Order: sequence, then C-alpha cells, then structure tokens
Amino acid sequence: MKEYQDLVVNLHYTDICNYRCRFCHSRFGRTPLGLEEWKRIVSNITRDVDVRRFNLAGGEPLAAPFAQGLIDHIHGLGIPVSVITNGSLLTPSWIDANRNKLSMIGISVDAFRHEDNCRLGRVNGAGQSLSMSRLGELARAIHAAGIRLKINTVVNRVNCRQDFHALVAAVRPDRWKLLRMIRIEGTNDHADDLLVSGAEFEAFAARHADCRPVVENTADIVNAYIVVNPMGRLLDNTGGRYRETPSLLDHSFGKVFPSVAFDRRAYERRYKAA
Ligand code: SF4
Repeated sequence: MKEYQDLVVNLHYTDICNYRCRFCHSRFGRTPLGLEEWKRIVSNITRDVDVRRFNLAGGEPLAAPFAQGLIDHIHGLGIPVSVITNGSLLTPSWIDANRNKLSMIGISVDAFRHEDNCRLGRVNGAGQSLSMSRLGELARAIHAAGIRLKINTVVNRVNCRQDFHALVAAVRPDRWKLLRMIRIEGTNDHADDLLVSGAEFEAFAARHADCRPVVENTADIVNAYIVVNPMGRLLDNTGGRYRETPSLLDHSFGKVFPSVAFDRRAYERRYKAA
C-alpha cells in the first residue's frame, strides 16, 4: 500500500499564459521543464501516492507545447486527468479527440462582457476575450463528449454585483465553483483594488444559491490543495505567500511532502463539497 491515499494533485506545469489577469496568483516564474521531466515528476509522485486524479493547470496548460503528451502519458498510467483552462485555446475538435482521456474540463469565467474582461486583463495579446457564444460552443462540445464541465469564477470587484444566472443556464456546468480572489504577497499584491470583502463574496454566493455553486472562501483553500509549480516544487501558501519545497524532479513525494503544511480535514471538506 502506498504512503498517501486518494489525493488530487494539481500540476501547474507551465507558467506560460496568453492572458494577463490582474489578480492572477499562478505566476510562479519561468517554465524550464519539458515533457520528459514532467513524466519523471509524475513518477516521483505516483511512487508514493495513490493519485485520485491529476489536475493540469498553469499558467494556461494548453499553451505548453507538450500538453497533449502529458495528458496521454497520465491517461496511459490509468489515472484520471482533468484540465483547468481559460478556454481561449480550446476547440471542439480537441475536446472530441480527448473524450476518453479527460474526466473533466474546467473553464475559468470571471466576466461575461468583453469590457469587463478587459478591465480584469482576461484578454489575449490581440485584445480578444472568450465570448459567450464561443463559451457556449465549447460547453456543448464538452457535454457531447461526455466530459464533465466545471466553471470556475473568481469573485472580484468587477463582477461581485453582477448576475451570472443566464451564463450558468446557458452553459449548464456539472459544477460551478466560486472562489474569492486571494492575495498572495509578491504575486498579485498590485491588484488590491479588485479584492472583495467576505460579506461581498457571501452576498454573491447567496444571490446565486439556486445555481448550487460550490463555494470556496479564502480560508477554505489555505493548505487544502496539493500544488506543484512549474519548477516541479510543491507549494505551501501559509500566511498569504508561497513557500516552495525542493523539486520533485530530484526528490520523491514522500520525502518533500511532510514539510508542506497540509490540512487533510480541510482538503476532505473541499472534495466532499465538490
Ligand atoms: S488565465 Fe489563469 S493563469 Fe492566465 S493570467 Fe489569467 S488567472 Fe493567470
């Protein structure tokens, strides 16, 4: 029996992203690792962990040239794979080609008007955001492929008074997750004007209670995620800043994980809620 049972491991395997969200807390540094190195990291994790699912994230995970290779590798190990993406690089044909490989596709949607996406920085270099018609097309392709659809929404100053009912009704996600924007020192501390209070976050969630969102307030996510950054290092976000372990490229999970503050009960609560 492996040392750790039933864990979801988030691989933020790239720092590359075509968007510039002002509140982004997923900017970790450069992306020096390639597919073979990530295969080694996966191996160093699975040696010690019975992985329930690898969740691929970034940056923008589909912007990495080896995204498909990593999905294929993990799928080949018989371990479920999910992806969290900004949706801009997704296509119906890519979704269809991965219908038997992905258990879930998560798309982050924090605004439904182009001008609000511009205010948040959720646009590519050409100033384009994910339109609602394109999101609808992608959602239909995901449902048709039999893949679960998750929408992640970060509640922030721009969207906190808006009504997302029409969006949720149009897209019909299997899970709609609401997250309160968090502040990470040295990462997104230049975007304090986008922060919302606990009361504003709760009011947004209460207004949308009939959509049955999964609600994650700031305290719910501290030490409740297992995150590997683009350098292959586990992250600890205690105290509102990131602390890194040595890289899983050279060390086994079992060796470095005990130095990470991990709250198993908070983790179980999160996945139970999901
Ligand atoms: S799409 Fe995600 S990774 Fe890219 S800038 Fe926005 S929050 Fe960060």
